Amino acid sequence: MEPENADSVGERVRLVLGNIRHAAERAGRLPESVRLVAATKTVSVERIQEGIAAGLCLLGENRMQEALAKMERLRDASVRWHFIGQLQRRKVRSVIGLFDVIHSVDSVELAQEIDRRAGQAGITQAILLEVNMGGEATKAGFHPDEIVDQIPTLGAMPHLRIQGLMTIPPPTPEPEQARSYFRGLRELAGRIADQRVAAVTMQELSMGMSHDYEVAIEEGATLVRVGTAIFGARHV
Ligand SMILES: *Cc1c(COP(=O)(O)O)cnc(C)c1O
Repeated sequence: MEPENADSVGERVRLVLGNIRHAAERAGRLPESVRLVAATKTVSVERIQEGIAAGLCLLGENRMQEALAKMERLRDASVRWHFIGQLQRRKVRSVIGLFDVIHSVDSVELAQEIDRRAGQAGITQAILLEVNMGGEATKAGFHPDEIVDQIPTLGAMPHLRIQGLMTIPPPTPEPEQARSYFRGLRELAGRIADQRVAAVTMQELSMGMSHDYEVAIEEGATLVRVGTAIFGARHV
């Protein structure tokens, strides 16, 4: 067994939940204001079940096929599902209604398609807008300098509830180096909230992963997406 797998999934869930609580307290925030989204891509249903037994209640999946298979097998578990992966427009139809929140809406065109499909399904879909805070050419997301002007267009889509922002900062050797991106996302959410566009609330900030979730919580994260720190390294 590899050393990184020495602890059980259950122990790691408890550890991460404890770290989340402590980070919130350090920042003078209520621990309940931060929710853990377990990033479960490539993780087996058995290991996910261990995590659920230890307190996971929100699962984040990246791929539709994989998510559907897991939802089927975990249909009796009391967990909610979030979609956190990159979403192609032609796949939108299959995600509608299955996920409480889609974190990764990275363009006006994608938002339009979700709005259209949600309308056809007779539902309102909660979404977050993904912002490319590092301005990386290879990464999807709204540009931080442009998103504010796009909010009225997005807010006018009748079948969307825009609940906040999400970001994946550029990889940094030290968690502390991600802080400015997290802070930038929080400030951006503040500017968007100040626009007071109906159907756009900025109550959620989805930021922070295994490496840097504690820093993200100090900067206001309400949803942290953690995979490796719970399930170990992914071998795919
Ligand atoms: C895989 C993934 C995570 C979790 O990353 P870890 O470093 O394993 O914690 C978070 N967010 C997204 C969008 C992911 O795809």
